[in-house]
Amino acid sequence: MSVHADLRRKSMSEIESQAFEPLLKNPYKTRQGGATVTVFVPYNCRNHCPFCINKEEYAHPEGFSAHKICDSIKRMDAITPYCDFVFTGGEPFANLESLQHMLDAIPTTHKVYINTTLPVFEFQTEDDIVAFTQKNRDKITCINVSRHMQHYVVESNDKLLTRLAVPFRINCVLYKNYPVRDMVPYLERFYQIPGASIQFRFDYTETTPQNLYDKWNDKILHDLKHLASYTGLDGCRMRCGFHFDYKGMELTYHKTLPYSTIVEKDKNDGITYDILYDILIKQTGDIHSDWDGTIMDVDAYKKVVYEPYDLRWLERCEAKETYPVITNHTCAVI
Ligand code: SF4
Repeated sequence: MSVHADLRRKSMSEIESQAFEPLLKNPYKTRQGGATVTVFVPYNCRNHCPFCINKEEYAHPEGFSAHKICDSIKRMDAITPYCDFVFTGGEPFANLESLQHMLDAIPTTHKVYINTTLPVFEFQTEDDIVAFTQKNRDKITCINVSRHMQHYVVESNDKLLTRLAVPFRINCVLYKNYPVRDMVPYLERFYQIPGASIQFRFDYTETTPQNLYDKWNDKILHDLKHLASYTGLDGCRMRCGFHFDYKGMELTYHKTLPYSTIVEKDKNDGITYDILYDILIKQTGDIHSDWDGTIMDVDAYKKVVYEPYDLRWLERCEAKETYPVITNHTCAVI
């Protein structure tokens, strides 16, 4: 539940007293360039990850429409022509023809990221995926490939990663009691692959404003500091990333809050804003301002107030050259 949606909850008496008045809404604010637009593709994946919160809505595909999604992409491009787009699902690579239509709706002023498992199945070969990346090398900024330590997703051959014509990153959710003993073999698996970097991710349904930056009680952070060299921390109100170096391979440990709106009063103008970090285009083409079903007022977003992006380095450290590393770094706090 977002802070935004929480503020929307009103008692019956409040609702009745406002029956003939327009509902007061906070104006939108976002970072320069615009909030990231996350597009939910209109088709499913074949996996059943225990931390997935999207699976259920793919059980009811009524109203799903790639055509309406393209219309919504164009609406968002008209408002913020330099924002980032992320395709997620479901499985963006399960229907390359449909993905191509949606990609073609995005001008090259935008960065485009695709979350995928790189699925290979009876009607789609590794060569098809490679050809798709070659064709779209100027459109795709990075492919985020899900490879969890616990085998929740059906995986294609690691050699496919070496053939992709665009940059890629490995995403790994460290869920509940993840097997710590498997971390080094996991790191070694991708260390062998040229161009690989890894982003470990905290289960975001468990992230709170209190534990987002909590270093002392974060088991994942402690485990990683025994395996790799800590190089720094960046972050903003919504998310943070602890950075590491593993034999020259870049690792990040990413945490993000489970909502995309932060309600905050601006000290300068005294106005309370809904500060948007992510905007969602749902499988039906509907545009939401949060993960909990909050519909976005697109006309209000046309008047969005921009602020400098608050993501910044909070700590920088020199990487050590020996591995494994037992913490005790001296870091510059920025
Ligand atoms: S692959 Fe993605 S969409 Fe599919 S079950 Fe796993 S987390 Fe959910």
